[in-house]
Amino acid sequence: MMLTEASKNMSEHISKVTVLDPTDGCPASQVGADQIIGDFKDKKSIIRLAEESDIITYEIESGDSDVLKSIEDKVEINPSPETLRVIQDKFLQKKFLNENQIPVTQFSIIETISDLESRIIDFGLPTLLKTRRDAYDGRGNYKISSRKEIDDAFTSFANKKTYLEKFVDFKMEVSVIAARNTKGEIATYPLVENIHEENILRTTIAPARVNQNIQEKAKKIAVRTMEVLKGAGVFGIEMFVTKSEDILINEIAPRVHNSGHHTLNSSETSQFEQHLRAILGLPLGSTKLIKPTVMYNILGSKKFTGEYNQIKATQNNMFLKMYGKKISKPLRKLGHVNLVAQNSESISDLVAKLEQVKEGLQVTPKETWTIH
Ligand code: AMP
Repeated sequence: MMLTEASKNMSEHISKVTVLDPTDGCPASQVGADQIIGDFKDKKSIIRLAEESDIITYEIESGDSDVLKSIEDKVEINPSPETLRVIQDKFLQKKFLNENQIPVTQFSIIETISDLESRIIDFGLPTLLKTRRDAYDGRGNYKISSRKEIDDAFTSFANKKTYLEKFVDFKMEVSVIAARNTKGEIATYPLVENIHEENILRTTIAPARVNQNIQEKAKKIAVRTMEVLKGAGVFGIEMFVTKSEDILINEIAPRVHNSGHHTLNSSETSQFEQHLRAILGLPLGSTKLIKPTVMYNILGSKKFTGEYNQIKATQNNMFLKMYGKKISKPLRKLGHVNLVAQNSESISDLVAKLEQVKEGLQVTPKETWTIH
């Protein structure tokens, strides 16, 4: 949806956007994109999309990289299917970063329960057993805190390929939105701080409340990552800041990223425009943060699935963006707000303001049923 909106200001370069999405009337189609209704992994639908397009890109990493690879000579695809293949498999991703001297936590492939038992001796507890594929927002992670949980962790991912990660006792989670265009130009946005609740991003604070040293280290790691990854586009690079102020990459998303949504209202170029510039081989836009901003995700209530009441912005520096999803599901990302600093407001003023408005951002069911 937000990429389609960004494309409207680039009509001299983009004449039409067609989107492949399984849900009829998907968010992008609501803002003018043509839609092919189909699964992200459906070969026929991907081929149809390729026939209608000059360039294919994606904003979810669950597409079929083999199908994309098979049509690479017919249509330009960015980021490249090879980059997608490596990133889709969290173990291959960590291995790739490690081989390129980019810091990550210790990790090890797990095939048998005895692999798990012996690696736990090396990594200590707690530790995280993760599925290699189709895992996001914490889905596919099992935190093992005691030896009693080993069996349960192993059997809960019985039919899946897994690997183990050493637990990082981090001080903060941060991310860099980075872009690389088809000509090799690289740009990074200032470091932001991410607060997760139940493994899902809830709040992003731009800029991150860290010292210059951490900012520079993170930027260096992000630039190095962009240099070694093939393909063009915007990437979300999630990192941990450890207690000793080291930076480790947690994971990379080969797409516009939720922790970059603040750029819609805070920055000279939004991440969505930047992504389009990158894949079209245009010069990248300025990544300057104009105003400190706090982004807060509007997530579906855990208490219901169904239609929900409209949410309204209540302050004049509060930019509400709803994604047009008709149905709320537990913890589904339905929209976000950006609270942008006015006058001399600081990050702590914005965080305090967010606390005041949070109640009004709760997702409530449309129909209220009275039990007599
Ligand atoms: P993931 O989906 O793998 O990025 O994990 C979701 C969240 O789990 C992260 O944002 C972290 O809060 C936490 N997490 C993931 N991996 C680790 C780790 N190795 N050590 C500590 N926390 C982690």
